[in-house]
Amino acid sequence: MQAYDESRALRFYLFDHCPELLTPEERLIVRDARLGRSILAYKEGGEPRLAVMLGRKLHDPEFASLDEQALDAREMSLARAVLARVGDEVVQRCGRCGRILNTPRAQQCFLCGHDWHKKAGGPAPASG
Ligand SMILES: [Zn+2]
Repeated sequence: MQAYDESRALRFYLFDHCPELLTPEERLIVRDARLGRSILAYKEGGEPRLAVMLGRKLHDPEFASLDEQALDAREMSLARAVLARVGDEVVQRCGRCGRILNTPRAQQCFLCGHDWHKKAGGPAPASG
């Protein structure tokens, strides 16, 4: 199991589970960073032609030349900008350990095991 990484957890939470919080321009950065990682993998895997092909899909061509650390930095900078705009409270944290949950609707922390699902016989969970 991968160790908890607050920065990675935050990016995953915001970019994968709260895309509505991002502006269209910010979504392009997320997309470019992901393409940048694939381009990096193709380059490292000895597939430079595939890397070039993928590079044509980038909104910002600079992402084709970034390394893993630079891609992480771009994503973290974006995540911080989103949080500064929308507020830290959009990020749901575990009530026991304080770590970022996997999704906004999570009812269990997979890091410490804390579980707040409604028990059978209790009130029905809200639908939707
Ligand atoms: Zn927890």
